[in-house]
This record gives sequence, C-alpha cells and structure tokens, in this order.
Amino acid sequence: MNTPPLRGLHHVTAIAGDPQQNLDFYVGVMGMRLVKKSVNQDSPDTYHFFFADRDGTPGTGLTFFPWPGARPATPGAGKIVEVGLAVPRDSLSYWEARLRSHDVSVNPIEERFGREVLPFTDPDGMAAALVGIQEERSFAPWDDSPVPVEHQIRGLHSARILERSLKPTDTLLTRVMGFTRHGSDGEWHRYADSENSSGTIVELREVDERGSGNWGPGGIHHIAWRMQDDAEQEQLRSIVEKVGLRPSPQIDRFWFKSVYFREPGGALFELATDGPGYDRDEAPDKLGEKLILPPWMEERREQIEAALPDFVNPLQV
Ligand code: ZN
Repeated sequence: MNTPPLRGLHHVTAIAGDPQQNLDFYVGVMGMRLVKKSVNQDSPDTYHFFFADRDGTPGTGLTFFPWPGARPATPGAGKIVEVGLAVPRDSLSYWEARLRSHDVSVNPIEERFGREVLPFTDPDGMAAALVGIQEERSFAPWDDSPVPVEHQIRGLHSARILERSLKPTDTLLTRVMGFTRHGSDGEWHRYADSENSSGTIVELREVDERGSGNWGPGGIHHIAWRMQDDAEQEQLRSIVEKVGLRPSPQIDRFWFKSVYFREPGGALFELATDGPGYDRDEAPDKLGEKLILPPWMEERREQIEAALPDFVNPLQV
C-alpha cells in the first residue's frame, strides 16, 4: 500500500463546559491565541473555539466545543484521554509556577520516554501535559500573548488513547498510516514518525474495561492528522476504506477539508488538509475577533448569534 508521509497532528478537538471559562483558561493562562470563533457546523447553537499559535499553523490547534451544563466526560476504551503540548525544555519550571499560581491542578514533573513532562488538568477536567522539547518546531510566536514568546506553547506534541486491544490499532498505525513503533514506557506504547518527532506522537494503553466511557466536558472528541492537500487526503482515505474502516466523504470545514473515521478501537480520527487556513476569511491581525460562519450559514447569522451565550475575550476587556 502506498501510504502518504506521516506529517503529524493537525489539531485536537475537545469538549468544554462554560465557554467563558474555556476562553479564560486557554487564552488567559495558557497564552494561546483565539484564532477562530465559530459555531459547531453540525450543531450551530454551540460555539467552536480554535486556539493556536499566532497564525493557526497546522499542528498547533486545540479546538473546543463548549457544552455548558452537560455531564462531564468519563474515560473508557476507545477514548482519547490526554493531549500533550510542546514547550521549550527549559520552560517547564516557568509553567509549573504559572499553572500553580492560577490554581490549576498540576501533577509533579515526571519523565516519559526520556522527556520531562508536566501533567495538569484543565478547568473542565481534561487531562493535558506540557512536554519539554529541545528541538525547534515550526510555530508563529504571538506578541500579544500573556505568556512571553520564549515560553509559549510550540504546538501539539502527542495524544494518548485507551484501547481494549492494542493489535488492531497498532496495525492501522504502522501498516496504513505510516507510523513507527517506538517501544513502551510503563503501560504506554508509543507510535510516531521514524524520528519520534514532537507533534507526530500517539500513545496507546490497553485497558481491561468493558465500558467505552462517555463524551462530555473534559473529554477529547477527536484528533486530526495533517494532510498536505486533497490528493494526499484522498490517497489515505481510499486505503483506510480498503482495509475495512469506514471513512466519511470529504467534508468542507472551510478553513480545511476533513475526512473522519473511527480507528479499530473506536477513537475518532480526522484527516485534515493544511489549507486553505484560518486567514481565509479574516485578516491575520484580526483572527478570532468576529463570530465567523461558513458562507452557507451566513443567511442564518441573526438566528445563530441570538442562540449563543455571550462571552468576553480576556485580552479585550
Ligand atoms: Zn477536527
């Protein structure tokens, strides 16, 4: 099978509770830029927030659907249970102090696969980890961030998934998607590109659990993998279909194009094109300021806006 090259994570999408709390945390504490404020295209009475570096570089995006009042997520087999964010190795002590000063629930720094990691929990209970890296990542520093450029998040580092059985997902990753196995640390098995690069990593752990958990605030909805263009996406889509998984047709998300499928263990994967990008409908210096709707939803703007809760950007008050 002719598999396209593995380019790493494109974005990770999770579910939050209160939109204001979500924004205050990811912009005000984590120092990420709100690069797009939109709605859930499948349920336009809820927001869709996109946090990233200054430009929304593919591989830096953490996006949220805030579902205020929904029941919190519960982990289980087939659920994505942690997202790793890359920061410069020497910044971990800055981050530990910063998170503690904002009353974030932080675990002690630990070592995983030879790197120092600072695990923490976001205000909705989502497990995340800041991972100290030495290498340079392609990232656009954001001067208006409350976090100094030298400490800013460089992009997505990794995702962790619980699996009832390792083998089928191992086969998908290594035989279809171009991953290389990089051994294990404790109960976690690592897969990444051949260089084990930050941003290409997924880790699996086998769990002896019958339940598959539930989605809700604090839960990670899906992880998206970078596709250079439509042709590369179609190439992988057709291979995924041939091996018996059921990819969706290509869906136009306006800022990128998406194909979704469940990996054999049940976690939702997306293949997302790098382009056209978040500056397609807003000037680069205005990203995230307006509620942006894809053109086919514009005629319902008034109705959609009226149904959404108000919030303020912590940096614009
Ligand atoms: Zn997505």
